[in-house]
Amino acid sequence: MTSSATKIRNAAERLRSLATAAAHEDRTRWMVGHTLGSKSPVVVDNHEKPTVLIESWAQHREQVNDYLAAFGSPMVGLAVAALLEQQADLLEDEPFHDQVAYPGEPRECSEDCHACASEEHALGVARAFSAAFENTNAEGDA
Ligand SMILES: [Zn+2]
Repeated sequence: MTSSATKIRNAAERLRSLATAAAHEDRTRWMVGHTLGSKSPVVVDNHEKPTVLIESWAQHREQVNDYLAAFGSPMVGLAVAALLEQQADLLEDEPFHDQVAYPGEPRECSEDCHACASEEHALGVARAFSAAFENTNAEGDA
């Protein structure tokens, strides 16, 4: 069975790889802008010479663009990847975290185990990212 640390680290590595690849010419912050000669709101990585240009057609597209610029920015992906990597390190460094005396019994780690406190949230982020990534790729292959 794949450990939580491995699942979280795998998601972090994939996210770091995607965020790094998305940051053309070290442009790690995307922003809301407009296409030249058009009033159409878009998300760009540079106002003058965009290499990323995302246009949404949602009903409330300003909010969609705000969301894409804020959370899609490679700097956010890199920061989330760092947080996930830190959680994976915590899980791997906690010697009793994955130990149980008998199958089905609770873990033997201490009450103040730092890994336990944030494991589920980090796993939730890793699962959500992995599911979104797989969906994105499935749509792209269609
Ligand atoms: Zn623990």
